[in-house]
Amino acid sequence: METKLFSRAQIDDAVKLLAAGELVAFPTETVYGLGALATNEQAVKNVYAAKGRPSDNPLIVTVADEKMMAKYAKEIPVRAQKLIEQFWPGPLTILLFVKPQSLPSAVTGGLDTVAFRCPDDPLTHELITKLGAPIVGPSANTSTKPSPTTAQHVYHDLKGKIAGILDNGATKVGLESTIIDLSVSTPVVLRPGAITPEELSEALGEQVLVNSGQVADKNVPKAPGMKYRHYAPSVPVVVVDHEQDFKQIDYDQTCGVMALNPVLDQIDLPAANKFSLGQNLKDADHNLFAGLRYFDDQSAITKIYVQGFSGSQATLAYMNRLNKAAANQHYLTK
Ligand code: AMP
Ligand code: MG
Repeated sequence: METKLFSRAQIDDAVKLLAAGELVAFPTETVYGLGALATNEQAVKNVYAAKGRPSDNPLIVTVADEKMMAKYAKEIPVRAQKLIEQFWPGPLTILLFVKPQSLPSAVTGGLDTVAFRCPDDPLTHELITKLGAPIVGPSANTSTKPSPTTAQHVYHDLKGKIAGILDNGATKVGLESTIIDLSVSTPVVLRPGAITPEELSEALGEQVLVNSGQVADKNVPKAPGMKYRHYAPSVPVVVVDHEQDFKQIDYDQTCGVMALNPVLDQIDLPAANKFSLGQNLKDADHNLFAGLRYFDDQSAITKIYVQGFSGSQATLAYMNRLNKAAANQHYLTK
């Protein structure tokens, strides 16, 4: 299959393909999503096949607005309305009870809940509005690989497997949406993202729990995706928590280093072995997946050292993705 690249001018071609049950990747402010008509069971099954995704890991349903969501949610509680008002369109996914029989069980993984998201991207908004129906939207990468933040990343992983990619340049945020579960008595953040638990708690005027990320944790519900390996290049990744440790590491030509500019400047390695995360945490969120992919594509690289951050809720999303990519391997200070 030829994988076509679509610009805004060709949006109607992308809509036609989706309506016919084909797969088309789409831009969002977080990462690129892999779109398929959410009400078409075969199209949804093809998403799992194209990504190599385990079939018990449910998909996010991407809607144009709250009105579209209302057709598939059992009810929209006041809490959800508060969050929608403040954060949609934006990087927040809301888990609610699904309206029975409204979506194929392949979407929900057979659960009685469904995850809704309304991305902040004008092209994707136009795409879904013209289609008149929601699309599923997992990240448009091969399962286990770092998520795609450009159309080129999507093409690298899925060329020949999907009908098209709607290109709107590099994504802004760079890490996947925050997922909040509103199907339980106390709201729980299942996946950290750009919108922090603090902001959610403030908007709701109540306590918000954060899932520990431990699948064995019986007290809180969980996103099935947590149990799978994620975001990982084929070579080991090591988290470096303390800036000064970057000077202690015994580098060789097969090492890749990802850090903020002031840290990189002090490391004596060829430029090709360094990838800048930028100037600050926001830049690092934006650049993390691109950096992991940059080194993953170089056969000479056998290990990647990546700067870790701590100290505020704003670091939760970045450290969640990095710890998964690194399988929790951290550099031990000498
Ligand atoms: P991705 O497919 O990379 O966008 O990640 C989507 C995440 O949302 C995965 O971790 C899924 O397990 C999670 N998710 C989607 N739908 C549900 C649901 N109904 N209940 C719990 N988690 C969900
Ligand atoms: Mg994903």
